[in-house]
Amino acid sequence: MTKQDIKQDPDNTTQTERPPVVAVLGHIDHGKTTLLDYIRKANVAGKEAGGITQHIGAYEITHATADGQEKKITFIDTPGHEAFSKMRSRGAQVADIAILVVAADEGAKPQTLEALEQILASKAILIVAINKIDRPEAKPERVKQQLAEKGVLLEGWGGTVSNQEISAKTGQGVPELLDLILLAAEMEELKADPSAPAEGIVIESHKDAKIGNSATLIIKNGAMRVGNYITYNGTVDKIKSIRKSDGQPVPEAAFSSPVLVTGFNELPLVGEMFHTASDLKTAEKLKQTAKLAPSALARKESTPTEKKELAVVLKADTFGSKEALEKLIGELSFETVAAKVVKSDVGEVNESDVSVAEATKAVVASFKVKTLPSMAKMLEKSGARLIQADIIYDLINAIKAELSLLLEPEIIRVDIGKVSVLATFKMDRSKMIVGGRVASGKIKKGAKIEVKRDGAPVISGKVTQIKYVQEEISEATAGKECGMMFIPAEPTDKKIMAGDILEVYEEEIKRPTIE
Ligand code: GDP
Repeated sequence: MTKQDIKQDPDNTTQTERPPVVAVLGHIDHGKTTLLDYIRKANVAGKEAGGITQHIGAYEITHATADGQEKKITFIDTPGHEAFSKMRSRGAQVADIAILVVAADEGAKPQTLEALEQILASKAILIVAINKIDRPEAKPERVKQQLAEKGVLLEGWGGTVSNQEISAKTGQGVPELLDLILLAAEMEELKADPSAPAEGIVIESHKDAKIGNSATLIIKNGAMRVGNYITYNGTVDKIKSIRKSDGQPVPEAAFSSPVLVTGFNELPLVGEMFHTASDLKTAEKLKQTAKLAPSALARKESTPTEKKELAVVLKADTFGSKEALEKLIGELSFETVAAKVVKSDVGEVNESDVSVAEATKAVVASFKVKTLPSMAKMLEKSGARLIQADIIYDLINAIKAELSLLLEPEIIRVDIGKVSVLATFKMDRSKMIVGGRVASGKIKKGAKIEVKRDGAPVISGKVTQIKYVQEEISEATAGKECGMMFIPAEPTDKKIMAGDILEVYEEEIKRPTIE
């Protein structure tokens, strides 16, 4: 995690339950829009206000649980996993729960599997909705079997993935689906702090001649008010108006509400994080740190000391090698870094691997399978690295090398010589010229210098020129007298004096390796 993450302090007593944010994904025509429409129509309050339900990209509903409690759920109303993956590629995780809609008549299709991969690669909780069960051709059991073949074991099929048979058309099973969402949210213990300034994610943005730039934001923590400052991607603006998804203007809004906000000078990008502040000074400070920030959800397992993870998309020649490699890669867990297989499959690298790799910043590890040049090109374009190996040992070592790149580099000082200062000539705040004798080792143009007086450090900087008599030289060795130009690391009033010792050194960057 980074310090820009949404701060969640599970021990903070001001934290209260946060409604879940839900995304709906799946193959085209499997009923995502119908489901979102049905849920909105059946549950959105305030229809009496003239039925104005503005489409802002998300909406909030209230659903009563089995024990009669009224609970809120926020739905992201932009079906299709494009928006979802766009947000993920920016590192923001907006959805706590992802509903995978699969039509029971058609069964799992390529986009179903792509959506599934996106969900699994994210940290969202998966719930499967098997739709169109009102159709005579519906075969829900076949869907369950297809998903099992992909390693997704539903409840009732030897696994734990929640699922519900529904008809988005008639509404059959939809209340039960909403129950499942609230149950999953409860198990996750989603929490947020209503007294904190708002933080969250941009899910849509629009240019409008009348109202100016506006954006739909999902607040994941805290609350915002009209007149607050809002920062996103290094910009600070002032919130002009806030509207809820029912179109009503409100003076303030809290998590997990979707809100339409105006007042942006620039158009915020989808997936970008935003932060609010009540005063400009705090907002300016936030601006410095709040660039495109990855989000951390209120998850029980999230701790600030989380290891850096290397995502791996694994492609293997056989199921046997796939399983063996999954296990070996999963065991690559070290003190501060670990590898994590986010997707694995048998066969050549394909487009959906590339999109998962791009979204999760994964390396693609392909074992004993060829990669088509067109796919290699796509990978290169997406910035994902490709590891190809025919020997398990090589593949694991290459992943270890990638993990090493996540380790903080060490900077090692290598002393190369000492110079005693005999005289000083020019003494500026940012440039000094001195004369001295190389006492040991050598002095080199470009080397770093630490000036010591009676053993204590005075200034540090760099030597940019060495002169012997009138001639410029690149280095001088022990016993030689020369003139040197010294540039301090930052302008200083301190001065080098005769009698000082210049310790000359070079810095080596050492990349730590994993055993
Ligand atoms: P999307 O592309 O996933 O958003 O799919 P749509 O919601 O647009 O649905 C595609 C088609 O399937 C539309 O003609 C819907 O009326 C129909 N449809 C969606 N859900 C159901 C359902 O539960 N039962 C039946 N019979 N048809 C449905």
